[in-house]
Amino acid sequence: MTDLPYECEAVLNKLDALRRGELTHDEISTMQAHMEVCQRCLSIERYERAFLARLKAMGSPPCPEALRTRVSAALARSAHEA
Ligand SMILES: [Zn+2]
Repeated sequence: MTDLPYECEAVLNKLDALRRGELTHDEISTMQAHMEVCQRCLSIERYERAFLARLKAMGSPPCPEALRTRVSAALARSAHEA
């Protein structure tokens, strides 16, 4: 068995705090040590970091609320035209 449910959960729960620089040196070391042996947490951490970097590169963060409003308006319009 390769899954480490408790450790993985603890690591993933702390990713946000890690990025905000809120962890102690010991906590950071523990997380880094875990990600060296756990491909799952490592890939999740990389994916999230790439995602956040892309959001940052786009300038303003996307607004899910505005998108949803636009999509439902488009759906309502097409339903009306049909
Ligand atoms: Zn893990």
